[in-house]
Amino acid sequence: MMTPQLYDNHGRPINYLRLAVTDRCNLRCFYCMPEEGIHYLPKKELLSFEEIERLIRIMASLGISKIRLTGGEPFVRTDLMQLIRKIAATDGVKSLHLTTNGILTGPHIEELKQLGIASINLSLDTLDRERFKNITRRDEFDNTWQTLQQLIASQIPIKINAVVMEGKNTEDIIPMVELTRHQAISVRFIEEMPFNGEGNHYARLSWTYKKILEYIQGAYPGLEKMKDQPHATAYTYKVPGYAGDVGVIAAFSRTFCGTCNRIRVTAQGILKTCLYDEGVLNIKELMRAGLTDEAIKSKLIQAFATRPRDGFEAELQRKNKSVHESMSTIGG
Ligand code: SAM
Ligand code: SF4
Repeated sequence: MMTPQLYDNHGRPINYLRLAVTDRCNLRCFYCMPEEGIHYLPKKELLSFEEIERLIRIMASLGISKIRLTGGEPFVRTDLMQLIRKIAATDGVKSLHLTTNGILTGPHIEELKQLGIASINLSLDTLDRERFKNITRRDEFDNTWQTLQQLIASQIPIKINAVVMEGKNTEDIIPMVELTRHQAISVRFIEEMPFNGEGNHYARLSWTYKKILEYIQGAYPGLEKMKDQPHATAYTYKVPGYAGDVGVIAAFSRTFCGTCNRIRVTAQGILKTCLYDEGVLNIKELMRAGLTDEAIKSKLIQAFATRPRDGFEAELQRKNKSVHESMSTIGG
């Protein structure tokens, strides 16, 4: 069967879904979640596995062929591997990816490899145990590090995500670039966004992608620009002779919206056609109200046809102007 290719109202293809399988997490990264007073969704508010599988079948029939499972921490969801097996076998799903903090991931790496997982993004903001504890509010560095070593051994393609934060981990930037010297991994430095679940935010971002890049170029004057993948969010570079590469992601400056091919579904089943919108369609309610696949498809197509041009327009269209959600509910 030929799968269609959907385009949004700005001519951008829509073929990539990032799905949050839970809002729960075993870390408390300060840029993502408050330390205390978190109100997790009751279980019945989450999409069930059956609903997720149905959603993915519907999305795949619309030409969405790349799926990333995220959260919250995906592996905190009981029996996640059961869901992954189903998704990996869904017609039309051409590549399945995961974003994880690595703490509970280790025991599943072999099976993930067998299932043909296309890549794993591992969040690691620092190589220092104390700084890790300070950023994540948990003493789990050793587990994440161990998972990184297992992932390298497995040869599953790896991207390390590091959010760069003034006073927290800028001394890690160069040591993290050094991780790419002998290992064919991508280390991506990300601008901090306002999705910390608390609504408080700086007026001006200190470590912009430009500053991160200049800092790296200062240490490696020969840094080479690589060809960026279509729809990539990262600008990719390489230190000549190193095995891996380095990316900078302008997540707050939003330079990549013009080619954005991704949509999100939050842990409670709400469709976001832009990271910065407030949610445009409650898919869980539609499913629970008994809509057919065809009816849900047509609602999805309508939502894709009214997508904001970019993250700035999406932010302006918010009813509640302040961006206060946690990245863990949105699905980073
Ligand atoms: N728990 C998993 C993890 O940490 O990899 C998956 C979910 S997490 C929300 C996904 C990604 O979002 C992580 O790489 C994290 O660093 C990033 N993230 C979370 N909050 C962010 C923020 N305020 N600004 C930039 N990136 C953020
Ligand atoms: Fe948890 Fe990931 Fe958010 Fe950190 S970034 S608190 S690991 S969901």
